[in-house]
Amino acid sequence: MDLGLTGKVALVMAASKGIGKACAMALAAEGATIVMGARNKETLQQAADELQQRYNVPVLALPTDVTKAADIQAIVEAAVQQFQRLDILVNNAGGPPFGYFESFDDAQWQAAFELTLLSTVRLIRAVHPHMRSSGGGRIINITSTSVKQPIDGLLLSNAIRPGVIGLTKSLSVEFAPDNITINNVCPGRILTDRIRSGSSVLSRTAAGASEEEALRDLAQDIPMKRLGKPEELASLVAFLASEQASYITGTTIPVDGGLVRSLL
Ligand code: NAD
Repeated sequence: MDLGLTGKVALVMAASKGIGKACAMALAAEGATIVMGARNKETLQQAADELQQRYNVPVLALPTDVTKAADIQAIVEAAVQQFQRLDILVNNAGGPPFGYFESFDDAQWQAAFELTLLSTVRLIRAVHPHMRSSGGGRIINITSTSVKQPIDGLLLSNAIRPGVIGLTKSLSVEFAPDNITINNVCPGRILTDRIRSGSSVLSRTAAGASEEEALRDLAQDIPMKRLGKPEELASLVAFLASEQASYITGTTIPVDGGLVRSLL
């Protein structure tokens, strides 16, 4: 299936590794021009070089902290200046810290809000005029299955990510007349540094268990009995970014090997 992405320009955030990098790769594989941002200049450039060598598409990599309004403005302006358009936004960031209620003070709640919800708002605000002027666009937010079923030990995600779902549903209505779709993709347990670093908190293994033991335990709850690969999530993102997904908007789709048992 040709996803019709050749000539489209995609902005992918937190794209130096993990899910963000896999999304950038999947879109590049379909011929999209890629603008990628993440905080660390060296790892971001490495990811951009790898993508360019593999897919030979135009790439712009710019160090960006999604919690900084000025960085967001700068990457969107640079993208439009270099490629004259912006068609796709993959809203992604690092996850908020793991922990329970008593571990967080106001500053940590505020930081989680800025990382998870406000960055999403700001990026959408920055790209929206460009999508509108080019006749349409695709916005895909990477969230978490915590929006379907709270995850023990991930209070900040459980409390703040549902705001992204409310935002998405509202904007799907506001943006529909401009032919801009907006959807959420929810990783379940995808094998990246994020799940590795959280494996001891999330798993039931005893203190002192190895990371591999903790990851094996996490796989046991998943009907498919394995963690997901970043590419398995990125293929859905590429599809949602495509021409074929033109009538899908306001949805929230888990990629979790069947982990979440909720009906909706
Ligand atoms: P990861 O740790 O592998 O990668 C995170 C990326 O985010 C890195 O490139 C990092 O540089 C970047 N980043 C962090 N803070 C940033 C900031 N302020 N500005 C710009 N870039 C920033 O994580 P991942 O597994 O790829 O996770 C991506 C998103 O998906 C996160 O929000 C995570 O919480 C969420 N998620 C992941 C899983 C999973 O199983 N991996 C499950 C549920 C939700």
